[in-house]
Amino acid sequence: MSDYRCYINGAWCEAQSGATYDAMNPGTGEPFATIAKGGREDAKRAVAAANEAFETWRKVPLWERSAICVKVAEVLDQRQEEVGDILCTELGKPRHQEAKFESGEASVPWRVAAEQAKYLEAHTKPCEDPNKRVLTFRQPRGVVTAITPWNFPAAIPGEYLPFAIVMGNTVCWTPAPTAAATAVKLMECIHEAGVPQGVINLVPGPGAEVGDEFVVNPGTHAVGMTGSPQTAHIITARAGLKPRLFELGGNGPVIILPDADPAKIASSVASACFFAAGQVCSSAERIFVADNLRKEFVDAMVAETEKWIPGDPLDEHTTMGPQNNMGVVEKMGGHLEDAVARGATVVSGGKRPDLPGFFWEPTVLTDFAIDSLVNREETFGPIAPINSFRTDDEVWKFIKACNLGLVSAVFTQDVDRAWQWAEELDTGITVVNDWTHFWEHHLPFGGTSRNESGLGRIGGRHTLEFMSNLKTISFNLGNPTSF
Ligand code: NAD
Repeated sequence: MSDYRCYINGAWCEAQSGATYDAMNPGTGEPFATIAKGGREDAKRAVAAANEAFETWRKVPLWERSAICVKVAEVLDQRQEEVGDILCTELGKPRHQEAKFESGEASVPWRVAAEQAKYLEAHTKPCEDPNKRVLTFRQPRGVVTAITPWNFPAAIPGEYLPFAIVMGNTVCWTPAPTAAATAVKLMECIHEAGVPQGVINLVPGPGAEVGDEFVVNPGTHAVGMTGSPQTAHIITARAGLKPRLFELGGNGPVIILPDADPAKIASSVASACFFAAGQVCSSAERIFVADNLRKEFVDAMVAETEKWIPGDPLDEHTTMGPQNNMGVVEKMGGHLEDAVARGATVVSGGKRPDLPGFFWEPTVLTDFAIDSLVNREETFGPIAPINSFRTDDEVWKFIKACNLGLVSAVFTQDVDRAWQWAEELDTGITVVNDWTHFWEHHLPFGGTSRNESGLGRIGGRHTLEFMSNLKTISFNLGNPTSF
């Protein structure tokens, strides 16, 4: 029997095929448990269960659905030590830092969804016809597919599941295979909170099988996915007319204007590069610093790397965990090699430390070329590429060489320049004078339509709107119309 199983129609079960796979601890490179490896048949059973549950769940009053989300939040709070433990084991998140932070935050979106759904207003519409009274309502879409990545496996499911169910939808959920044990732990909390059977179904397994079945099956009615643009393209080709919400990759940029104070901001910029070992969509992936600040800023960033200590995730002195898998480690090597071949200099770090598992040193790189991979693609690791500039035009050329645009940051005390940059950057979010990771669950988050960083917006009412159809009801007070 596997240690972590599927959850379909309110019951824990093995994959129908009986297949399992090893869950790896990236801090040791060793397996720590077995996970049920779901396939298409399991996904189909989940879709059937979700459709059956939908007929009842959609009629449960909103205030009751909201109260159940609050109950899930309470269980997540009560069991946050367990959630922190599995984040540490399965993702290698430092137990006393990131794992503690993420497990402590896991309940927040459940409360935000529960709260905001109650106050989501639709409209009455005045009409030319004086006999009509027209009102709009938000109704559930049906069965929502949720496909989640590995980098924040306790937090990101919360960006979909509570917003879906509070609006009266039911859910078919598949997590990234390397984060499935954490998903099962969350599902235990959801089960304990009393979410009725069939309302949320969890099937771990390969995305191209389980996720694909959830996308193509006519029994699902909308798709929410956080992951890479490549996967989003595949889903788009497979989803037909189903509405899609995509949260995809980013690539900075961070712009530091000539009047910024390097001593004051370096810690914040370094945190945006190295938090979660750089495996965040909103990471500071490219840094452009004004030429007059170059030496002071690069020196400060190198000093900051000392604070990011890779090591045993259970050790309280460890501040940086491993990469999720060897593929990510190889990507670090590939991006660095490419940058150096095109003229960049590694100022600090730049290799795997002498540790078991999948670690990479916090790395500072300068003078990367416009066509280098670190400029054109998401690196998704602890590499801080820095270029200096004299004119804004120089920076724009680099920025425009990449078609990702999720979160950018600008550091300056000049209000006019801050507004100018913030309004012109083609990213869904621009943060002025802080790290790129600032976000709260009620704020809109996502990419822009001119780039590959996403489709639609998560956050508060934006997710609630995605999770519902707008229904118009026209009420006639006069004689029925004939023509
Ligand atoms: P990924 O695209 O490899 O996988 C994402 C999910 O899609 C996984 O659950 C996977 O199993 C599933 N999947 C894979 N192939 C599929 C298919 N053919 N059909 C359906 N589902 C399929 O991404 P990842 O490596 O898990 O996550 C890293 C990426 O996620 C990075 O690009 C990162 O920037 C992005 N991300 C974005 C945000 C955001 O909010 N914008 C947040 C976190 C991560």
